[in-house]
Amino acid sequence: MGSERSEIRTLQGVGASAGIAIGRVRITDRRRVNVTEYELSPEEIPAEVSRFAKAVERAKAELSFLRDQLMTTRGPEHLCVIDAHLMLLDDTMLIGETAESIRSLGINAEGALKRTLEKIKTFFDGIEDEYLRERAGDVETVVERVLRNMVGEKQESLAQIEGKVIVVAHELSPADILQIDKSKVIGFITDLGGKTSHSAILARALEVPAVVGMERVTREVANGDMVIIDGASGVVIVNPGPEEFRDYLQRKQRFEYLERELFKLRDLPAETPDGHRILLKGNAEFLEEIDSIRRHGGDGIGLYRTEMLFFNRTVLPDEEEQFRLYAAAVRAMSPQPVTIRTLDVGGDKFLPDLDLDDEMNPALGMRAIRLSLRHPEAFKAQLRAILRASALGKVRVFFPMVSGVAEVRAAKALLEEAKLELGGKHPFDENLEVGIMIEIPSAVVIADLLAAEVDFFSVGTNDLIQYSLAIDRTNEHLVSLYEPLHPAVLRSLKMVVNAAHAAGIQACICGEMAGEPMYLPILLGLGFDELSMNAISIPRVKKILRRCTKAEATQVAAKALTFATAAEVESYLKSEISARFSESFD
Ligand code: PEP
Ligand code: MG
Repeated sequence: MGSERSEIRTLQGVGASAGIAIGRVRITDRRRVNVTEYELSPEEIPAEVSRFAKAVERAKAELSFLRDQLMTTRGPEHLCVIDAHLMLLDDTMLIGETAESIRSLGINAEGALKRTLEKIKTFFDGIEDEYLRERAGDVETVVERVLRNMVGEKQESLAQIEGKVIVVAHELSPADILQIDKSKVIGFITDLGGKTSHSAILARALEVPAVVGMERVTREVANGDMVIIDGASGVVIVNPGPEEFRDYLQRKQRFEYLERELFKLRDLPAETPDGHRILLKGNAEFLEEIDSIRRHGGDGIGLYRTEMLFFNRTVLPDEEEQFRLYAAAVRAMSPQPVTIRTLDVGGDKFLPDLDLDDEMNPALGMRAIRLSLRHPEAFKAQLRAILRASALGKVRVFFPMVSGVAEVRAAKALLEEAKLELGGKHPFDENLEVGIMIEIPSAVVIADLLAAEVDFFSVGTNDLIQYSLAIDRTNEHLVSLYEPLHPAVLRSLKMVVNAAHAAGIQACICGEMAGEPMYLPILLGLGFDELSMNAISIPRVKKILRRCTKAEATQVAAKALTFATAAEVESYLKSEISARFSESFD
């Protein structure tokens, strides 16, 4: 029973997890619970508060049950999302304030909970960073679970779905995604969500093709409709004709063939034909991404972002909580190394404890290492946690947004204090390597001075391009001006590598540029020792690396540096790559 409108329709959403799926729609009811607010008489209030508390307890029990189930079916790596949701059920802002509103406003629990949610959402809406803004989605998911418990609605679990289907839902929670059996649910499409929502991250980690942020797809398709989804481009084709079928079947086969071929590279070294070895690592911010880095043959984690522990909360995570997370990451990646970046947040985002003012220009504001140096006690707690994790495997630490030598010295002094504070109580790696991110133009210019202070550099090209070209990396109107191959960027990269090598330290890149296979000959030719990227790019970059000699790459890099515009560099690179490696990047 497909939809009555059987014409071919092409819809556009956000590609959340690459891969093509072709199948029939299965709509699963994930609509939000409808809530009406009403007033209570004073004598009804205590019972209402306890009804709310019971719903919270039931939600906790459900999540704990799910956690135990997942522990046996999927193992420990994917549990941190459920843990984050369990933590929210103890959150004073979410739970405490709601109970308080029931009492002070004399309204029903559903109404009070919705009000708290709206308040939290307004708070998140003001956040510039897309990733952090989307954390509001986690709060909504938890609120839905409590609401359903209050109105007594049960939801079908995705684990119960039969047949081979593409699930279409208003939204799917991370818990939903974790229950997906890939032999039955071959892909999913949702109205809500963005690229960095938890569900999208999990879909990528589990490699289920997914398109999110479709806005109204639940109203545009019907159960049984045939659909094609392309999780890379975000295209969804409803009721495809024979031509679309053929086309996407071919693309699907090509994608799967490429994945299989790339998979074969997994255990081969990241080495050029003339024997030059570099390290290809993965970037991670969730424990569940580590498995994917392993599967894609990464040499470790080159950038472990620590921000996610700090969002969604009113009290900063203490040393113990941070240690548990870093320890889990180190164990999951062991024996390969994990490079942990200290907190890289900005402005007034979500650290109420630190009581920051609004800023006119947060990108140039109180963020990253500046913020850490301003709050030495919180910074040292993070450093102690990282130091303790260094006793469990190979760990390196590095500082974000460094603009000069004084900051590095101050950060290193605090690291020494942190070591003393551990005072023999906890073991740590005495020789823990310390690095900095190079992402501010001043750091490029004084790279030689900075190199004397640290053990490695890691270039954050995302920010370095932004600050060098004065292009806001999140401004959709400036996308065409955000040019990784701009001669200023290439010259900066060259200066950084040269300064690092002159001082005998390692030069790495952990910005998005590192994961673009087309740039590999330049980055290799410039002399970078390590590239860290999203997991799925590792074999793609390795494939080019294993075909490109260091000598060839050196020539390509030298030539690339002679052009005057990014467009010229790009057209040179494209022709060079297709000529040398029979690979096309159009
Ligand atoms: C970068 O700036 O390139 C980087 C890796 O850091 P982030 O994207 O987290 O700012
Ligand atoms: Mg950065």
